[in-house]
Amino acid sequence: MKGIRSALAAAAVCMIPAQVCAMEIGDRTGIVYYSGIDTYINNYPIRAYHSDGRQLICAEDLRGYGFTVDWSPEDKALYISRDDSAADIQRDDGIKRSVYLAGKRAHDIVYTDISVYLNGEPVEAYSIDGQMMIKLRSLEAVGTVEYSAEENRASVFIDGLPAAEYAPLEEDLGSKITVVLDPGHGKSSWSMSDEEKRSAGYDCGSGGWGEWRHWKEGSASEDCGGCRNEGQCWYPIGNGDRDTEPEINLRNALAAKAQLENMGYSVRLTRTANDENPSFKARVSYCYPGNDLTAEPDAACYVCIHSNAGGGRGSAYIGAGGNYTQKWINSSYQEDCDLLGESINRRITAETSLSEYSGGRIGGQGYMILFHKSPVPAGYMEIGFFDSADRRIIDEEYERIGLAIAEGINDYMTE
Ligand SMILES: [Zn+2]
Ligand SMILES: [Zn+2]
Repeated sequence: MKGIRSALAAAAVCMIPAQVCAMEIGDRTGIVYYSGIDTYINNYPIRAYHSDGRQLICAEDLRGYGFTVDWSPEDKALYISRDDSAADIQRDDGIKRSVYLAGKRAHDIVYTDISVYLNGEPVEAYSIDGQMMIKLRSLEAVGTVEYSAEENRASVFIDGLPAAEYAPLEEDLGSKITVVLDPGHGKSSWSMSDEEKRSAGYDCGSGGWGEWRHWKEGSASEDCGGCRNEGQCWYPIGNGDRDTEPEINLRNALAAKAQLENMGYSVRLTRTANDENPSFKARVSYCYPGNDLTAEPDAACYVCIHSNAGGGRGSAYIGAGGNYTQKWINSSYQEDCDLLGESINRRITAETSLSEYSGGRIGGQGYMILFHKSPVPAGYMEIGFFDSADRRIIDEEYERIGLAIAEGINDYMTE
C-alpha cells in the first residue's frame, strides 16, 4: 500500500504544469488592471485594482488605514497587522474613479518568493512592480467586506477604526493610457540635408548616415557603438527609404489616432507629415515624457504602422524574437509585442476586406531595429500590400483600418 501511495503522490507532482516548475522570480504570472469600482475602508477611499475578478489593493497602502506593514528581509515576508494605536485616517482626495484607466492594464503580476501575512496568517498575495497586492476579500479576517453593484463600490468595515461619511468618488477624466503610433518611413534620405539628418537623430559614421541598432545593454539612451560584431549593429538611413509607403502609413496612423482618442486614449505620433523622417532613436523618444530618453517611459505601448510590398495579399504583424537587452523591458516583452501585433491584426482581418497574410505573423525578423530600441511592447504591423490588388482596399478602407488598429490596441490593453 505504501508503495502505491507514494507512486500516486509522485504522479500528482508530475501533473503540476511544467511552466509552474520552471517559473523564475520576475516571470509574469498574470496582469493587474485598473479598477473601475470605488473602494473604501470605513468609507475612506483606497486605490484599487483587479485581476481575474478579484478586487486588489496594495498591501503597503494599508499603512494609512490603521495597519502596520513591516517588511522582514530575513523572512522575505511582509507582515500586516491592525494598529490599535492608530487614531485617525487621512482622507486621500487624490483617489478618484478614473474613467479612462478603468479596466486597462496597470502592471504585470510576477512570480515571487515573498510571503504576506495578515495578523500572523498567510494571505494570497501578488507581486507587482516592487510592491505586494492582496485581495480586498483578505480583510474579511479583520472586518466585513461588502460589494454593491448598484453603487459601484466595494467597502470594508473594520471595528475600532474611525469611519467617514460615504461619498462616491469624484470622476477623473484626465488620466489616460498613452499610446505611441509610428507611421513608418518618411521623407527619402536622398532629399534630406545633412542638417535635417542630424536633427532627425541620425549620425554620420564610417558607413555613412544611419544609426545604431542597439542600445548599450541595460540602457535605453546610450548607443551600442557596435556591440555584437555581427556587422548588424549599424542601420543605414537608406534602409528606410520608400516612395509610396510613407503616405499610406501616415493616413492609417491618423485614422487610428482619431479612433483611439474617441476611446479615451492619449496618442503621440512619431511624425505628423511626410516631409520628415525621424530616426528610430527619435521615434522611440515619444515613449517618454517630454521625449526624454533618460526619464521613465510613460507610454503603455508602441505601434509601428507599415504596409507590405512584393505583390502578396493580406495583413500581418512582424513577430518579435531575439536577444533584447534594452532598459525597461520586462520578461514578457516578446510575448507582449506579439500579443499586441496579433490583437491588431485580428481586428484588421475581421473588420476590413484585407485577408490574413502568412498566417497573420511574419517570422524571422525579430532583429528589426524597433524591437531593440523600444522601451515598451511594440506591435509591428504590415497592413496589406501597397503594390498588389490590396492597394484599392488600403485606399478605400483606411478609416476602417484605423478603427481596427484602435480596437486591436484596446483589446491588448483590456484582455
Ligand atoms: Zn549593437
Ligand atoms: Zn515599411
